[in-house]
Amino acid sequence: MDTFHYCTLQKPSKEPNPKDINNRRQKRSLVHYAKLWPSRHTLKIAFMDNPTSEHKKNIIAAAEKWLPYISLKFEFVEGVEGDIRIATEGVVNSSFLGNDALDIFPDSPTMNLGIAPEHEDFETVVIHEFGHALGAMHEHQHPKAQIPWNKENVYNYYQNRPLNPLSRNEVDDNIFTPFDDADALYLPYDRQSIMHHPVSNSLTLGNWENPTNREISEKDKQLMRLIYPR
Ligand SMILES: [Zn+2]
Repeated sequence: MDTFHYCTLQKPSKEPNPKDINNRRQKRSLVHYAKLWPSRHTLKIAFMDNPTSEHKKNIIAAAEKWLPYISLKFEFVEGVEGDIRIATEGVVNSSFLGNDALDIFPDSPTMNLGIAPEHEDFETVVIHEFGHALGAMHEHQHPKAQIPWNKENVYNYYQNRPLNPLSRNEVDDNIFTPFDDADALYLPYDRQSIMHHPVSNSLTLGNWENPTNREISEKDKQLMRLIYPR
């Protein structure tokens, strides 16, 4: 169980961006709730680096699996102008959380989808990254998750994996640290959420593991309906 494409949830730099003249970050950093897009907003989603039309079609099909549960619309375009900007070159899978994407310099991607379209986890990863882009956090970092991590094994695994190794700090941020329940809107912990990483038994103490969740769970649907009501 070593080939999972774990993702990194990116955070905007804490340094003020001199180009960010409207002071947007300060207003939005108060609560997680403020990371959401406006209800009924049409999210403009740009492909920055010309993936093939087949590749794009597959990304769009996976992303659109969220549409039945939200009031947002997606508009996919070419180029660098978009609320969300997707880069497909490279090996990293990552996304900013919700409208944090608006704080990113307009030439930079807000989502990386390095996973190859032929990979068995492609659809899962694309749905997962779009979950972040809609504002969903990692389910394994739910305050009630209480996964019995074997922390040293987890650090070792991530530091030594050949593609996209993670530092200890990055492991802390993306795996261990629960999200702050004062800032977050969330429902009960759900091991079937597509926002939950698969967890190999070798990374936990005792007998605890979680498979790759490949579909949007009932709880995921419920959360989306709650945050983007029609
Ligand atoms: Zn993730």
